[in-house]
Amino acid sequence: MTRKTKNDDFPHKADVVIVGGGINGCALAYQLAKRHVDVVLCEKKYLCYGATGRCGAGIRQQWSTRENTELAIRSVKMFEKLEKELKMDIGLRQGGYLIIIHDKKEMRQAEKNVAMQKSLGLNVSILDVDEIQDIVPILDTKGINAIGASFCPTDGHADPFKTTHAYAYAAAQHGAKLYKFTEILGIKKKNNLIDHVVTTRGNIKTNTVINAAGAWSKKIAEMVGVKLPNMPFRKEILVTERIKPLFKAMVISFKDGIYFSQQDEGQILGGIPIPEEKPGYITTPTFTFLHHMAKTLTHYAPSLRHVKVIRQWTGYYDVTPDARPILGETKGIKGFIQCNGFSGHGFMLSPMVTKILSDYIIDGKTPPILEKLNLSRFDDKKIKREISVVG
Ligand SMILES: Cc1cc2nc3c(=O)[nH]c(=O)nc-3n(C[C@H](O)[C@H](O)[C@H](O)COP(=O)(O)OP(=O)(O)OC[C@H]3O[C@@H](n4cnc5c(N)ncnc54)[C@H](O)[C@@H]3O)c2cc1C
Repeated sequence: MTRKTKNDDFPHKADVVIVGGGINGCALAYQLAKRHVDVVLCEKKYLCYGATGRCGAGIRQQWSTRENTELAIRSVKMFEKLEKELKMDIGLRQGGYLIIIHDKKEMRQAEKNVAMQKSLGLNVSILDVDEIQDIVPILDTKGINAIGASFCPTDGHADPFKTTHAYAYAAAQHGAKLYKFTEILGIKKKNNLIDHVVTTRGNIKTNTVINAAGAWSKKIAEMVGVKLPNMPFRKEILVTERIKPLFKAMVISFKDGIYFSQQDEGQILGGIPIPEEKPGYITTPTFTFLHHMAKTLTHYAPSLRHVKVIRQWTGYYDVTPDARPILGETKGIKGFIQCNGFSGHGFMLSPMVTKILSDYIIDGKTPPILEKLNLSRFDDKKIKREISVVG
């Protein structure tokens, strides 16, 4: 990938300008450049500076809404072929996701979710307590009142840095120009058409801008007078020292909000929301999180109580009112494309989302999912919320 330092060769025009060098921006640059679109990506800091470089990078297909499930299933199929396609290691590991069911109400919802997921072709099932123990032997199923769990063996994890850089490198190989330390300062339109962007390195004439700025998407949209309902929320996460291999699945509980898995190298990685977190651009890690996470994790897996935490950090969720992404063209402004609002699951959906958006930009294809996830869905106030979320 080129890191440009001089302004002399900075492009003055492009077919498409992408704002943001996270997983979605880089995957979009690849999808577009691969099909010969003249694309420029501007990242205000460095690749993976946003949520992508701070995330758990879990990949799961077990959702409550059809749209998220469909995007996730199709993304997993792409993740499985990505190393070959991009010719680079992305650290994909498929150890499954185990979603703990604590009571009858959760069981009814899990049964409903699993039926919908199966109807879309997903290999997923509801396990009893003994089967849970086989998959994650360190779980205290009695202590956490588990009555079952849903499990999908093809869920998993990929390395967010490797995956993003693999996309970025492949994009550059296909002619995309990626500029780090280049901030978008303004977007100008003429008669409701995108006309050019203003950056810290100069202006770029373009008729298409993709807003893949994660938690900052709201600010990018404001540059053209568009109001996004997205809110930035600090999310904390920690990693422990390496211990011997104990389990391969990601464990989640919607009731307790906790998620944790063991990395290939042996560390336990996980997070939990802290009570009453308010929206805003705050990055300070808290002792409240550390305490809450340690307490809950050792409640789930008491044998981890002697394991040392080596690092905790924060990143933002870019949260929408229905916990689903905002995708596609913005009503009233031709060429202003949204790819944001991923609300904590933007890494896992990125392969398919960026493929669908690039097909829209190049061929004008508008599959139903793009219409359902358009910003305009918030106009009629009858939104369907994704409820299978942690945090
Ligand atoms: C703690 C935590 C755990 C998570 N766990 C998971 C998980 O397990 N699985 C999963 O799928 N998702 C997870 N997520 C969510 C996931 O990280 C995000 O949804 C995803 O990374 C979003 O990628 P993105 O490329 O859209 O945005 P980002 O990665 O946030 O990238 C946006 C980029 O835009 C840049 N930018 C902003 N403004 C400008 C500007 N004016 N000019 C130029 N550049 C600009 C930023 O610097 C940033 O690099 C987690 C998030 C967090 C914080």
